[in-house]
Amino acid sequence: MKLEKTLVLLKPCTLERALMGEIISRFEKKGLRIVGMKMMQLDDAILANHYSHLVDKPFFGILKASMMRTPVVAMCLEGVDAISVVRTITGSTNGRNADPGTIRGDYCMSNQQNIVHASDSPESAKAELNRFFCPEEIFDFGTLNIPRLYAEDEI
Ligand code: UDP
Ligand code: MG
Repeated sequence: MKLEKTLVLLKPCTLERALMGEIISRFEKKGLRIVGMKMMQLDDAILANHYSHLVDKPFFGILKASMMRTPVVAMCLEGVDAISVVRTITGSTNGRNADPGTIRGDYCMSNQQNIVHASDSPESAKAELNRFFCPEEIFDFGTLNIPRLYAEDEI
Protein backbone atom coordinates (compact mmCIF):
# COMPACT_ATOMS: atom_id res chain seq x y z
CA MET A 1 0.00 0.00 0.00
CA LYS A 2 1.17 3.54 -0.77
CA LEU A 3 0.26 4.91 2.64
CA GLU A 4 2.40 7.56 4.34
CA LYS A 5 2.60 8.39 8.03
CA THR A 6 3.07 11.88 9.42
CA LEU A 7 3.31 13.58 12.82
CA VAL A 8 0.83 16.13 14.13
CA LEU A 9 1.12 17.83 17.52
CA LEU A 10 -1.83 19.63 19.07
CA LYS A 11 -0.03 22.56 20.70
CA PRO A 12 -0.70 23.85 24.24
CA CYS A 13 -2.85 26.73 22.85
CA THR A 14 -5.21 24.07 21.46
CA LEU A 15 -5.57 22.34 24.83
CA GLU A 16 -6.01 25.68 26.59
CA ARG A 17 -8.71 26.81 24.18
CA ALA A 18 -10.53 23.45 24.40
CA LEU A 19 -10.16 22.87 20.65
CA MET A 20 -8.65 19.38 20.76
CA GLY A 21 -11.81 17.55 19.70
CA GLU A 22 -12.56 19.94 16.86
CA ILE A 23 -9.07 19.70 15.42
CA ILE A 24 -8.87 15.91 15.73
CA SER A 25 -12.28 15.74 14.09
CA ARG A 26 -11.06 17.69 11.04
CA PHE A 27 -8.31 15.15 10.37
CA GLU A 28 -10.66 12.22 11.00
CA LYS A 29 -13.38 13.58 8.72
CA LYS A 30 -10.87 14.11 5.94
CA GLY A 31 -10.21 10.36 5.97
CA LEU A 32 -6.78 10.34 7.60
CA ARG A 33 -6.42 7.36 9.91
CA ILE A 34 -5.19 8.09 13.44
CA VAL A 35 -2.79 5.19 13.97
CA GLY A 36 -1.07 6.60 17.10
CA MET A 37 -2.12 9.17 19.70
CA LYS A 38 -0.93 10.20 23.15
CA MET A 39 -0.66 13.16 25.53
CA MET A 40 2.87 14.09 26.58
CA GLN A 41 4.74 16.84 28.41
CA LEU A 42 7.58 18.21 26.27
CA ASP A 43 10.90 19.38 27.74
CA ASP A 44 13.95 21.41 26.67
CA ALA A 45 15.75 18.41 25.17
CA ILE A 46 12.98 17.22 22.86
CA LEU A 47 12.16 20.79 21.77
CA ALA A 48 15.80 21.58 21.00
CA ASN A 49 15.73 18.62 18.58
CA HIS A 50 12.25 19.22 17.24
CA TYR A 51 12.90 22.91 16.54
CA SER A 52 16.63 22.58 15.77
CA HIS A 53 16.13 24.72 12.61
CA LEU A 54 15.00 27.60 14.87
CA VAL A 55 17.47 27.51 17.79
CA ASP A 56 19.22 30.69 16.62
CA LYS A 57 16.03 32.69 16.12
CA PRO A 58 15.23 35.46 18.62
CA PHE A 59 11.82 33.89 19.32
CA PHE A 60 13.20 30.43 20.15
CA GLY A 61 12.96 30.97 23.93
CA ILE A 62 9.32 32.00 23.95
CA LEU A 63 8.46 29.32 21.38
CA LYS A 64 9.97 26.65 23.62
CA ALA A 65 8.21 28.00 26.73
CA SER A 66 4.91 28.09 24.86
CA MET A 67 5.30 24.42 23.87
CA MET A 68 5.83 23.40 27.53
CA ARG A 69 2.90 25.34 29.08
CA THR A 70 0.69 22.24 29.03
CA PRO A 71 1.12 18.75 27.61
CA VAL A 72 0.67 18.35 23.86
CA VAL A 73 -1.24 15.64 22.02
CA ALA A 74 0.96 13.77 19.55
CA MET A 75 -0.76 11.97 16.67
CA CYS A 76 0.47 9.73 13.91
CA LEU A 77 -1.82 10.19 10.90
CA GLU A 78 -1.83 7.80 7.96
CA GLY A 79 -3.08 8.09 4.39
CA VAL A 80 -2.05 8.26 0.75
CA ASP A 81 0.18 11.37 0.45
CA ALA A 82 -0.59 12.06 4.13
CA ILE A 83 2.43 14.33 4.64
CA SER A 84 1.47 16.90 2.02
CA VAL A 85 -2.28 16.51 2.65
CA VAL A 86 -1.83 17.31 6.35
CA ARG A 87 0.38 20.34 5.57
CA THR A 88 -2.31 21.63 3.19
CA ILE A 89 -5.06 21.18 5.78
CA THR A 90 -2.85 22.88 8.39
CA GLY A 91 -2.25 26.05 6.35
CA SER A 92 0.64 28.49 6.41
CA THR A 93 2.52 29.21 9.62
CA ASN A 94 1.02 32.58 10.47
CA GLY A 95 -2.67 32.20 11.27
CA ARG A 96 -3.29 35.77 10.15
CA ASN A 97 -2.19 34.91 6.60
CA ALA A 98 -3.39 31.30 6.46
CA ASP A 99 -6.19 30.58 4.01
CA PRO A 100 -9.74 30.29 5.35
CA GLY A 101 -10.68 26.61 5.44
CA THR A 102 -7.28 25.60 6.79
CA ILE A 103 -6.91 24.83 10.49
CA ARG A 104 -4.62 27.80 11.13
CA GLY A 105 -6.76 30.03 8.91
CA ASP A 106 -9.91 29.10 10.79
CA TYR A 107 -8.73 28.84 14.40
CA CYS A 108 -5.93 31.28 15.14
CA MET A 109 -4.56 34.80 14.84
CA SER A 110 -0.95 34.03 15.70
CA ASN A 111 2.34 33.22 14.00
CA GLN A 112 3.36 31.17 17.05
CA GLN A 113 0.18 30.03 18.85
CA ASN A 114 -0.91 28.29 15.68
CA ILE A 115 -2.81 25.21 16.89
CA VAL A 116 -0.81 22.35 15.36
CA HIS A 117 2.59 21.19 14.26
CA ALA A 118 2.73 19.08 11.09
CA SER A 119 5.76 17.36 9.51
CA ASP A 120 6.87 19.13 6.34
CA SER A 121 8.58 16.34 4.31
CA PRO A 122 9.03 12.55 4.23
CA GLU A 123 12.43 12.95 5.94
CA SER A 124 11.05 15.06 8.79
CA ALA A 125 7.98 12.84 9.18
CA LYS A 126 10.24 9.81 9.69
CA ALA A 127 12.58 11.61 12.13
CA GLU A 128 9.70 13.26 14.04
CA LEU A 129 7.66 10.06 14.40
CA ASN A 130 10.78 8.37 15.81
CA ARG A 131 11.25 11.30 18.18
CA PHE A 132 7.70 11.26 19.57
CA PHE A 133 6.62 7.60 19.33
CA CYS A 134 8.04 4.17 20.13
CA PRO A 135 7.34 1.62 17.36
CA GLU A 136 4.79 -0.20 19.57
CA GLU A 137 2.76 3.01 19.98
CA ILE A 138 1.98 3.09 16.25
CA PHE A 139 -0.65 0.60 15.19
CA ASP A 140 -1.20 -1.35 11.99
CA PHE A 141 -4.81 -0.86 10.89
CA GLY A 142 -4.36 -3.12 7.86
CA THR A 143 -7.10 -2.61 5.28
CA LEU A 144 -9.62 -1.15 7.76
CA ASN A 145 -11.84 1.34 5.83
CA ILE A 146 -9.32 1.54 2.96
CA PRO A 147 -11.87 0.45 0.30
CA ARG A 148 -14.18 3.27 1.48
CA LEU A 149 -11.45 5.92 1.36
CA TYR A 150 -9.69 5.19 -1.94
CA ALA A 151 -10.22 3.74 -5.40
CA GLU A 152 -8.50 0.41 -6.09
CA ASP A 153 -5.83 2.06 -8.27
CA GLU A 154 -4.96 4.69 -5.67
CA ILE A 155 -3.71 2.28 -3.06
N1 UDP B 1 7.37 30.34 14.87
C1 UDP B 1 7.36 31.52 15.60
N2 UDP B 1 7.72 32.70 14.97
C2 UDP B 1 8.11 32.74 13.67
C3 UDP B 1 8.11 31.52 12.93
C4 UDP B 1 7.74 30.33 13.56
O1 UDP B 1 7.04 31.52 16.78
O2 UDP B 1 8.42 33.82 13.15
C5 UDP B 1 6.95 29.09 15.53
C6 UDP B 1 5.54 28.67 15.12
O3 UDP B 1 4.88 28.14 16.25
C7 UDP B 1 5.81 27.60 14.07
C8 UDP B 1 7.07 26.95 14.66
O4 UDP B 1 7.82 28.05 15.17
O5 UDP B 1 4.73 26.70 13.94
C9 UDP B 1 7.90 26.18 13.65
O6 UDP B 1 8.28 27.03 12.60
P1 UDP B 1 8.27 26.52 11.09
O7 UDP B 1 8.92 27.58 10.27
O8 UDP B 1 8.82 25.14 11.02
O9 UDP B 1 6.70 26.57 10.73
P2 UDP B 1 5.60 25.41 10.55
O10 UDP B 1 6.30 24.24 9.91
O11 UDP B 1 5.04 25.07 11.91
O12 UDP B 1 4.55 26.02 9.66
MG1 MG C 1 8.04 23.29 10.46
